Amino acid sequence: MNFEYTEKSLVLQEKLRNFMDREVLPEEKSYEEFTKENLWQVYPKMEALKERARAAGLWNLFLPKNYNEFSPGLTNLEYAPLAEIMGRVLWSSEIFNCSAPDTGNMEVLAKYGSSEQQAAYLHPLLKGEIRSAFLMTEPAVASSDATNVETAIIPDGDHYVINGRKWWSSGVMHPNCKVYILMGKTDVNAARHIQQSMILIPADTPGVKVLRPLEVYGMVDSPHGHAEVLLDNVRVPKENLILGPGRGFEIAQGRLGPGRIHHCMRLIGAAQRALELMCTRVATREAFGRPLKDFSSIRQDIAKSKCEIDQARLLTLAAADKIDRHGIKGAKELISMIKIVCPQMCCNVVDRAIQAHGGLGVSQDTPLAGFWVYGRTVRIADGPDEVHMHQLGRNLVRKMV
Ligand SMILES: Cc1cc2nc3c(=O)[nH]c(=O)nc-3n(C[C@H](O)[C@H](O)[C@H](O)COP(=O)(O)OP(=O)(O)OC[C@H]3O[C@@H](n4cnc5c(N)ncnc54)[C@H](O)[C@@H]3O)c2cc1C
Repeated sequence: MNFEYTEKSLVLQEKLRNFMDREVLPEEKSYEEFTKENLWQVYPKMEALKERARAAGLWNLFLPKNYNEFSPGLTNLEYAPLAEIMGRVLWSSEIFNCSAPDTGNMEVLAKYGSSEQQAAYLHPLLKGEIRSAFLMTEPAVASSDATNVETAIIPDGDHYVINGRKWWSSGVMHPNCKVYILMGKTDVNAARHIQQSMILIPADTPGVKVLRPLEVYGMVDSPHGHAEVLLDNVRVPKENLILGPGRGFEIAQGRLGPGRIHHCMRLIGAAQRALELMCTRVATREAFGRPLKDFSSIRQDIAKSKCEIDQARLLTLAAADKIDRHGIKGAKELISMIKIVCPQMCCNVVDRAIQAHGGLGVSQDTPLAGFWVYGRTVRIADGPDEVHMHQLGRNLVRKMV
């Protein structure tokens, strides 16, 4: 393992930190107020921020080497610290065209899309002109086991007809969300892992019905949101199928590896900022005749948090390095490990920071409540903790006996 950052990554880290300080942090409060008061509308300065990020060379940083001319060509290890910096302000990734689920969808289209699919959807996504959603989870079945998904993708002449109900479809509420990648079943009689396929559905296709936005602890995450979507006899041309019938699982495996590194590094960025806010707060506030920083329990909370953040960061960088050198398959165990460790670490660290802030910590006046919700939801999304532990435990026993 060699975690020395390359010169290219160090230059971008410096540039990104400056951009965050100069352009993003001053917008933080007004972005949050705007999105609360103007549901499903894009922050008026978002396009200008995107333009400035692109001009500064801070664009599509996530996109791995060699996919096309839009990629700055970073490895996962080079990109990881950049995702950490973006994690300090949860909505900032969009400014750099690095936000989920677009990143995963762009990787899918770059890796597996036909040239027609790439021209229609990948190129506008890479330019930040449109946004997208990924529709896998269904309310009727335990979707942490993706073999359970029931949405039917049935051939009919030159088309596929899609029927089913999805939920937790992040991004669907965004006014620029123009396309969904949907996972469903093309052949329920095939072997368990080749029943599924992925298909592109333009958001305005007749039969697509957005039923409602879902709340996450009372927040709706405007403007992208998380929607429940009914697919009622939705017809799309056969060319919209990605890679071919029965290849959905294979695509899903390829999609989630780097995406988990991105989530974990953003969680580390959120936890790191929470710790910095905590240190500042306890240094300037007094109770019972002493600064809070002098209480032993507070010092312990700070020390524990620093250890946990640095442990999680090293593990995640190890996973990024392993993906770069051995591919997603070779990094499978480390990817499960970071997915188990980082969201819980973020919850623990942010919870301590909230406690040290008192009532302020749970209010809208700090980003802490949002950080905690992010950590808590990533314990479920992209594979709940237990699913990763189940697979990791099983693989380790297999290896050792
Ligand atoms: C904010 C948010 C955003 C999301 N965005 C998207 C999105 O964009 N697209 C999308 O398709 N989905 C998305 N999801 C859905 C998410 O991926 C699913 O919720 C997740 O995969 C779990 O599926 P489920 O909700 O059906 O839970 P279930 O499969 O019903 O599982 C419930 C619980 O059972 C337990 N469990 C499951 N398996 C095991 C096991 N092997 N051992 C022990 N316990 C186990 C776990 O505790 C798990 O949390 C999002 C979810 C959230 C909260």
